[in-house]
Amino acid sequence: MQENIKIICIGCPLGCEITLTIGQKGKVEDMWGNSCKEGKAYALEEYQNPARILTSTVRTKNCSRPLLPVKTTKPVLKTELMQCISALARIRVSPPIKIGEVVLDNFLETGVDVIATDNL
Ligand code: SF4
Repeated sequence: MQENIKIICIGCPLGCEITLTIGQKGKVEDMWGNSCKEGKAYALEEYQNPARILTSTVRTKNCSRPLLPVKTTKPVLKTELMQCISALARIRVSPPIKIGEVVLDNFLETGVDVIATDNL
């Protein structure tokens, strides 16, 4: 039995709606709606390994400001996002920290760093 799923491409402002036909065993059997090959690559990646840049906050210590905004330097697999959020909830950072500074390297051994998105 086949199933169609729709993915909106975020590769450019056109925002093409791409439809994937998924066959048995989850294999992509057909695709349409993309206006370029970048859209095809995006849709396949979004279906097979969806990932997102994680933006969040971490708690501070020795500081009057309670939270520091942070983000990952690369997308994190959606299946790992909750684990990453839990890990961020456990850390504390102290000033001084400059915007762009790594506050956590090789986040959960994903090869992704977490950086500050503001000065502290
Ligand atoms: S498929 Fe190509 S043209 Fe369409 S939104 Fe994606 S990048 Fe833009």
